[in-house]
Amino acid sequence: MKLSSKLVKTTVSALALSAALSSASVFAAGQPGHLGKKQQTDSSYSHRYIDVQLLGINDFHGQLDVTRNVGGRAVGRADYLAAYLKQRERENKNTLLVHAGDAVGASSPVSALLQDEPTIEFLNKLGFDVGTPGNHEFDEGVDEMLRLIYGGAHPNTGYFSGADFPYVSANVIDKETGKPILPPYIIKRINGVRIGFIGVTLSDTPTIVIPSGVAGVTFTDEAEAINKAVKQLKRQGVRAIVVLAHNPGVSNKDGSNASGEIVEIAKKIDDEVDVIFAGHNHAYLNAEVDGKLLVQSYAYGTAFSDVDLKIDRRTKDIVAKKAEIVTTYQDSIKPDPEITKLINKYEAKVAPIINQVIGTAKTTITNVQNASGESALGNLIADAQRAAMKTDFAFMNPGGIRANIEQGEVTWGELYNVQPFSNQLVKMTLTGEQIRKLLNQQWQPNQTRMLQISGLTYTWDASKPIGDKVVDIYLPNGTKLDPNAEYTVTANSFLADGGDNFTVFTEGKNREVGPVDLDALINYIQQLPQPFDAHIEGRIQPLR
Ligand SMILES: [Zn+2]
Repeated sequence: MKLSSKLVKTTVSALALSAALSSASVFAAGQPGHLGKKQQTDSSYSHRYIDVQLLGINDFHGQLDVTRNVGGRAVGRADYLAAYLKQRERENKNTLLVHAGDAVGASSPVSALLQDEPTIEFLNKLGFDVGTPGNHEFDEGVDEMLRLIYGGAHPNTGYFSGADFPYVSANVIDKETGKPILPPYIIKRINGVRIGFIGVTLSDTPTIVIPSGVAGVTFTDEAEAINKAVKQLKRQGVRAIVVLAHNPGVSNKDGSNASGEIVEIAKKIDDEVDVIFAGHNHAYLNAEVDGKLLVQSYAYGTAFSDVDLKIDRRTKDIVAKKAEIVTTYQDSIKPDPEITKLINKYEAKVAPIINQVIGTAKTTITNVQNASGESALGNLIADAQRAAMKTDFAFMNPGGIRANIEQGEVTWGELYNVQPFSNQLVKMTLTGEQIRKLLNQQWQPNQTRMLQISGLTYTWDASKPIGDKVVDIYLPNGTKLDPNAEYTVTANSFLADGGDNFTVFTEGKNREVGPVDLDALINYIQQLPQPFDAHIEGRIQPLR
């Protein structure tokens, strides 16, 4: 929102408020000249406190055109989110819109294929006031992140004017200059009161982003960076302080049992901080910790945080605060027509890219597993991932393969439907012993999940107990896997974090993040002789 229009609207609402208070006073209306003590008190009360509303999102991930499901009801899509935010904004003109990172990256094709410029345009149109980068803002490197913020040209999209609102980050430091690459904080003035906004990005970012993405920068301790910024804000007389932190946290719906990195950070930082917007783990958080209000509203625009503050003009401090996490149910509101138009425009623009032919399939390649647990498409994807990361082996979760590749011309959109999750590939080192344990984790008490594999073969025995079904594991040259040797392994980020209970992956050493799984598959298919094919080859062999 533009500051000028906000001030005008604010004045109107302040007048309305004082009028309401005056009429409630016995001495007030129509009695000029009798300005008794009571009315003076009322009037000064109404001017002393101002109600400020902060509307926040986190981890939007460019989900402009994506509808999700919560409890059987449709939620999300940028035009519905916009309608909710505008509705709340009308209820309190002293409103600021904020985001706590991962607004872009791992995005829907409508945004991703256009360098995420459509998402920034969406935030611009809503009048966002301040944001902070999450880890995903670094996916394509610092220069590309700064181009999205400050504007510039990209070979794919041409010139883009950038974000209309500032990004703040106190703990991302330029290795050369030793200074933050973005302003550590910004002061917003609303209806005469100043609020400081400090940004931080999780300091683990270099371990979860492709190395080229974070080249040239270091991530310092969040709490130290926040405290340094708070000191500077206090020196300038700012007492109302909000932190936008792309750090995880979760709580029960009633605010109990708050936990996660952001809770630890909250305990370490200056008590002048009043509110923290968290992010990253896509969870519900609405809790008070160490006198600070902590919020997070899931992800993907399926919800937003509505934080109501009462600020004392005299002390400049926040004297009351509460929050609500609001789910963006589609059946309770009409989509915002301006944003619907924006989505339609960009869907039309990406259509040619989605229809682009990547290769030609000789036969239909399916994710249907044979009795031993192997599928042709699983083999193709695992081979693509192993090639992309140049590792000894690759493992792919079967649940991550969402569609078949049909015989004939294969388009970008078809491959996106096969691998829609935008998981990045992770390279790591595991011992032969750990790989055996990993393969044995495929059989669990309640279900069996057969990993799709590349670079190794193995036999298994159905009659053996859970945890001991794998018999022999072979390398491509026919020799057996050495339990004591170290091997390089590729898995997607879901598995690498221990997804589907494959906890062995979390023990992997020398982790390195690579490209998104879909890009690995596209590149692999493009370099295969055409028409291409994939088969079940007996990589997995049951003994009985
Ligand atoms: Zn994140």
